[in-house]
Amino acid sequence: MRLILMGPPGAGKGTQARFVADHFGVPAISTGDIFRANVSQGTPLGIKAKRYMDAGEYVPDEVTNLMVRNRIDEDDAAPGFLLDGYPRTLAQVTELDGMIGYTGHRLDAVVVLTVDSEELVQRLLQRSETDGRADDTEDVIRRRQEIYTEQTEPLIEVYRDRGILVEVDGMGEVDDVTARIFAALDVIPQS
Ligand code: ADP
Repeated sequence: MRLILMGPPGAGKGTQARFVADHFGVPAISTGDIFRANVSQGTPLGIKAKRYMDAGEYVPDEVTNLMVRNRIDEDDAAPGFLLDGYPRTLAQVTELDGMIGYTGHRLDAVVVLTVDSEELVQRLLQRSETDGRADDTEDVIRRRQEIYTEQTEPLIEVYRDRGILVEVDGMGEVDDVTARIFAALDVIPQS
């Protein structure tokens, strides 16, 4: 199973990614988590990514693409994977198509979590109190939302046109959202 989990900042991608990946027995690959791990370890990649992340900007495509390519090449991702936070730009879509096509596989589904904007802001402000993520301040949250609308939302139409888009209501309890995602994906033929 090769899946993408999409949605605006605060939609609950990270939370749901783990459940969905476990359900299908594939690794959850979160670009945000990989970047954060590199930042905290002070690696060259982390040093490169940090200033973009702190400002709520996207890390340049060439940096992100190479990182994802390397991660997808690892053995555990051979049977499939769930991507959380990638692709986020049209250039990343093209790059991912190349990575998957090269191995003779295809993308099975793109799940978009929909959550209304008021709820998103509430969730992110709440997370800022509990998780202490450097990019969960009000200004940076606003910038991340703008960038999502400009650069990532257009990807929804790209995948809708391909007939692999699955829209799931991301409002309500975590368990209910998980159940909705499973219900929507369990009818999809696995490659
Ligand atoms: P969010 O809660 O905004 O969805 P993530 O944890 O997925 O946050 O990502 C945190 C930050 O990492 C982003 O704001 C961005 O700077 C960087 N990042 C993550 N994924 C990508 C990507 N695919 N392309 C560019 N930058 C990315």
